[in-house]
Amino acid sequence: MKLRPLLLAVLLACPSVHAEASRPLLVTVDDLPLQGPPADAGERERIHKDLLWILAKHRIHAVGLVVWGRVTTDADRRILNAWLDGGHELGSHSFSHPDYSTTSIDAYLADVEKARAGLEGLLAARGKKLRFYRFPYLDEGNTREKLVAMRSALAANGIRNLPVTIDTQDWSFAAPWTEARERGDEEAGNRVRVEYQDALRVSVRHHERHGDALFGRATPQILLLHANEVGASQWDALFTWLEATGHRFAGVDEVLADPAFADPPEFVYARGVSLWDRIDHAREWTRAEAEVRDVLATQSAAWSRGDVDAFCSVYAEDASFVSPTGLTEGRAAVLDRYRKRYPTASDMGRLTLDVVEMRPVWGPEVSMLGDSVPSSIHAVSIVARWKLARADQQDLSGLTLLVLHRIGGAWRIVQDASM
Ligand SMILES: [Zn+2]
Repeated sequence: MKLRPLLLAVLLACPSVHAEASRPLLVTVDDLPLQGPPADAGERERIHKDLLWILAKHRIHAVGLVVWGRVTTDADRRILNAWLDGGHELGSHSFSHPDYSTTSIDAYLADVEKARAGLEGLLAARGKKLRFYRFPYLDEGNTREKLVAMRSALAANGIRNLPVTIDTQDWSFAAPWTEARERGDEEAGNRVRVEYQDALRVSVRHHERHGDALFGRATPQILLLHANEVGASQWDALFTWLEATGHRFAGVDEVLADPAFADPPEFVYARGVSLWDRIDHAREWTRAEAEVRDVLATQSAAWSRGDVDAFCSVYAEDASFVSPTGLTEGRAAVLDRYRKRYPTASDMGRLTLDVVEMRPVWGPEVSMLGDSVPSSIHAVSIVARWKLARADQQDLSGLTLLVLHRIGGAWRIVQDASM
């Protein structure tokens, strides 16, 4: 993990977090019983004793997310019971920590079900219910079908997906920390400590600013941490910093009651990202879709009043037009072609364009922190059915495939294949 020093300095110098009063923050801890290099059962218990002590010191009621397939010994069960004793809640984080985007729906649902049955047994013995699931890698599936399948499976069991708003890379420090300790390398350990705190602070500020910008107010946050040895040495300093920067540790029910968590968007992506990224992307798509539909409506209206110039003005300068009669290149040539083929208003008739499907074109980017994030929507492809209703001649209709790019702030058709 390397942070660019200048950007880091700017983010850490920003006073915005200090100015906020008492922002509710839920601490969630993934990969119980332990993330990171293998540790023996005694070591695992020792690490959790420290983690639980720090949580208690800061009066934190956390949610721990359990990978049930890693609960293999009595010591692991004692760890989970110690979390419940400490007033924390346990949720499921699957049985084998699969990546949904590379797993079939059936295999994934079976894994989730196996974990549910196991963890519910442990919780029932304590009079508790299983209420939350956390997707490994925050990956909710790379197809809409997968996303919907898990949403209904969770709903059928009364389980809620517990999102993350502050995604962090805390897990990436686990191995370097343990290796430094095992080597007795104090200098390397110090480097990990400094980078851990810097990286976590930058993540907190980045994601909080994002959430606040989306909702126009201070948003409650859900912080992602992992159960690991580096956490046992670093959480105390992290939580002390959070308290000093206007945060108040809140319980899961209080935080999830905020309207920001009411309606998670259907975000289909082969990677896991913060809830704020999901909401931001969904809003951007809603905007883009409306803008593009506007372009089509403007175009249809222009055609129907016989204004071929206005109709062609939404083509990009270098647009390509493909039809059964061949290829036309450039807006001027497209305009010329339309003029020749439809010389009069009665030839043109009234145009309607019915959208069959519309797809956003975008891709993953990697943030400064090493997280993958959705890029902005830079293009839209559309399949539409066109119809020309003509008074004195035969009506015409066909299909078209349009590709629009955002050029100079406006959507322009760059490719048109009409048949
Ligand atoms: Zn995990």
